[in-house]
Amino acid sequence: MTENCIFCKIIKGQIPCTKVYEDADVFVFLDINPINKGHTLVVPKHHSENLYTIPEKDLLACVKTCKKVAIALKEAVKAEGVNIGMNNDGAAGQAVFHSHFHVIPRFSHDGLKHWPGKKYEGKEAEEIAQKLKGSLL
Ligand code: AMP
Ligand code: ZN
Repeated sequence: MTENCIFCKIIKGQIPCTKVYEDADVFVFLDINPINKGHTLVVPKHHSENLYTIPEKDLLACVKTCKKVAIALKEAVKAEGVNIGMNNDGAAGQAVFHSHFHVIPRFSHDGLKHWPGKKYEGKEAEEIAQKLKGSLL
């Protein structure tokens, strides 16, 4: 369903946004609640929910655009680094169920922390890797 999708409405111009770029496949605008100023969303024009279902053509167009936006942010807001992120499913923080990539400018002293690391116990890593390998066949 796309009728109630906020990003579809933004793409169609039914809801205002601060647009920075568009082409045949992607639409790019500033996040309304930026993690840092310049935080940009790269969105495929064709509606899909997230990474599991996005067509490869749209995925490729988004990733290529993320690269362009990341480089542009280095100049536009003098970003010292850039994080690219995609939240998939509510458990991972996805709030808008139209595929999108976050392009987040970073600065040495912006106060953000990397996510904490955990430790594997015993053979956990090997067991998980085996299951993953099975699922990737
Ligand atoms: P996610 O949690 O990955 O689904 O991210 C959704 C993002 O969309 C959040 O960072 C919101 O701040 C952003 N967002 C929601 N509504 C709007 C809007 N109308 N214009 C711009 N960004 C929005
Ligand atoms: Zn949509």
